[in-house]
Amino acid sequence: MPQCRACDATVTAARLVRHDYPRVTVVHCPECTAIVGRYRRHGDAPETDTLRR
Ligand SMILES: [Zn+2]
Repeated sequence: MPQCRACDATVTAARLVRHDYPRVTVVHCPECTAIVGRYRRHGDAPETDTLRR
């Protein structure tokens, strides 16, 4: 489970705030909005990303 380094909150994946861009997904802490992680998408087609809503 990811932990925010800015406010020490342990955040479940369901609560993370996701921002999907064409080549990268950025995940923010819901408590303080600090960036928790970045994930490269390696050119995956957006329609095949099952986490996207
Ligand atoms: Zn935080």
